[in-house]
Amino acid sequence: MSHQELHNAPIEAAAPKGRSLDDSLQFIKGVGPQVAEKLVKLNLRNVGDLLRHYPKRWEDRTHFRDMSDVRPGEFVTLCGKVIAVSTRYTRQKLAITEALLDDGEGAVKLIWMNQPYMEKTFRALASAQKQVVVYGQTKREGYSGSSYVLEMQNPEWEELGEDGDTLSANRITPVYPATEGLRQGRLRKMVYSTLQEYTQYVEETLPPSILSQHRLIGVQQAIQSIHFPESESERQLARKRLVFEEFFTLQTLLALRRRANSHDVQGISFSATLEELQQTLANIVPFTLTNAQQRAIAEVAANVTSGRAMNRLVQGDVGSGKTMVALAALLMAVKSGYQAAIMAPTEILAQQHGMVMQRLLEPLGINVEVALGSLTQKRKNQMRDRIITGLANIVVGTHALIQEGVDFAKLGLIVIDEQHRFGVLQRQALALKGVRPHILVMTATPIPRTLTMTLYGDLDVSVLDELPPGRKPIKTHWRNQEKREQVYRGTQTLLDEGRQVYVVCPLVEESEKLQAKSATQLAEQIAIEVFPQYRVGLLHGQMRPDEKEDVMAQFKAHELDVLVATTVIEVGIDVPNASVIIIENAERFGLAQLHQLRGRVGRGEHASYCILLADPKNDDGRARMEVMTATQDGFRISEEDLRLRGPGEFFGTRQSGIPEFSIADIFNDMDILAETREAAFQLVEADPKLTRPEHHPLRRAIENMRSKIGLMSVS
Ligand code: ADP
Ligand code: MG
Repeated sequence: MSHQELHNAPIEAAAPKGRSLDDSLQFIKGVGPQVAEKLVKLNLRNVGDLLRHYPKRWEDRTHFRDMSDVRPGEFVTLCGKVIAVSTRYTRQKLAITEALLDDGEGAVKLIWMNQPYMEKTFRALASAQKQVVVYGQTKREGYSGSSYVLEMQNPEWEELGEDGDTLSANRITPVYPATEGLRQGRLRKMVYSTLQEYTQYVEETLPPSILSQHRLIGVQQAIQSIHFPESESERQLARKRLVFEEFFTLQTLLALRRRANSHDVQGISFSATLEELQQTLANIVPFTLTNAQQRAIAEVAANVTSGRAMNRLVQGDVGSGKTMVALAALLMAVKSGYQAAIMAPTEILAQQHGMVMQRLLEPLGINVEVALGSLTQKRKNQMRDRIITGLANIVVGTHALIQEGVDFAKLGLIVIDEQHRFGVLQRQALALKGVRPHILVMTATPIPRTLTMTLYGDLDVSVLDELPPGRKPIKTHWRNQEKREQVYRGTQTLLDEGRQVYVVCPLVEESEKLQAKSATQLAEQIAIEVFPQYRVGLLHGQMRPDEKEDVMAQFKAHELDVLVATTVIEVGIDVPNASVIIIENAERFGLAQLHQLRGRVGRGEHASYCILLADPKNDDGRARMEVMTATQDGFRISEEDLRLRGPGEFFGTRQSGIPEFSIADIFNDMDILAETREAAFQLVEADPKLTRPEHHPLRRAIENMRSKIGLMSVS
């Protein structure tokens, strides 16, 4: 059957009863239990899954590139005949199998390591004179003479049009994510026959008005064309439509939630007013708040007095002054007769918040309780008593806050600092300590705007896009290890001027113990050999909390000049007099981490420096060093970070809640994302519960999606 017939295939008039996209794949011709098992490995269980198993790429097999035109480094699809095959063994007994593929114009050498069985396969192809299609990245062969031969290591390959398979030749051919033992040709046929029988059951979930306004093709057409497009433009139309659908469904879900939060949910209405709050802040805060801080505070105040539950994200670079926004929110709660809690990811950070809150708020008669996991049982019990009796107005703590036994008398507001460090469940657990408390989440990892939209579309967002006045830019230099002496001499000058210095130890991933050991050694070396005339302190994760606290306090009080530390200082200490941070083996750190570390300096009126001692061994590492020296803009850095690492790894964990898209690409489809966001919010404005009949299919699609993803929101 040709692809022409596919598109003209008549829609069956009377489909057998009871067919649906939920049908098991075993109903498809040629799928027995064994194949079904392999399909499960690809997460394909039913017909609907298979129809949405989109190709990972398409190969235009109507014409192939001439091998003689291809440059080294290109990713290409080539086609030719196998003219020679051989296997040799290296001294280490490594089998290297090579096959020469020739298209009459040129040749490419295919190479496999330790897959000697390839020899037999390719010999058979050679003697049968078969056309073979290969895909991969070409390299220039290292040791050849004048006319070079390209090579391709471990290419993807298949026989062209195997057994007269018309789906795999002379057309734009889909290539699917596959699994071992399931050949492309097989998958293609399966998808093809599934399309034939089931396309008509695919439901259009986009409302007609959206389809026409955004010039999108229908879903059935799109599903057919995405698998077997007749032209590149047809493929693009199909892709655009499917990407739109994926984003639009998510954005509609977010718009519904946002609306539910802001319109329907009864929340606590605080009685304190913004004016009162501003008055108090002016009295207790030793500096003038930035415009961005004032704006964020006003936004918070508007939320908490509205009678509806607040769900707000404060996003601001390191040092932008988020703590003051948190403090203002906590103050609103206390002034209105409620308790409030703030949760931070590390003990050091919680302690620091505790100190700030105590210093500024206790003079007002507000009791600030610090809840840490490391407290003694006796102190824990006392703390719990003070919280449940309502004696504690504000509770600052780590995840110890959400443990059993910590109960509040009247919790009205929670703040979660560095919220991406907590899982969804932890954030929920804190919220459940009250009855629909107001929620403020804060993050210092500036999130690319694209992600803000997809992750936090259901939250209100305040952005602190302004640093407190007087901050000098941090000069960032990347130096090789051999420049170490020079770096130390420069640092010495600043120490002589009375500044303080951080030295960050190389990252040791194997264990906390080893990390502590290497930190200790480095500290000794620096104290004895490098800066013998200065006071050198040490901070690492294996120290007891009270030891850490002591060192931190000493450094803050300038009783130490140099602090050698592991990444425990990443989100920790705030010392304005520290103006140099030297990061050892900086290439081992991720971009977000480097940026956080750098944020430890540049907090006072002094010119500050960040020195990256690094000898990166790959492009990735070099790219990271270059980004760091090129910009100090957290948003740009996070964009680069996301680009270099990809969304999956960006926040490290699955539970980060970044939805996985099946066809949309969060970078390249940014325009479509923005388009869908606007459209979705408009639609929900017009039909807030999606009750109109033309929106019912969309509602079903949303229910489906809701069950698949866990979004960030705490509510
Ligand atoms: P973030 O949590 O956003 O990284 P912090 O709240 O820790 O930042 O603030 C960083 C430093 O800036 C602290 O020393 C804080 O006291 C100071 N700071 C905050 N707001 C201002 C302001 N408006 N003017 C001057 N200094 C400020
Ligand atoms: Mg902070």
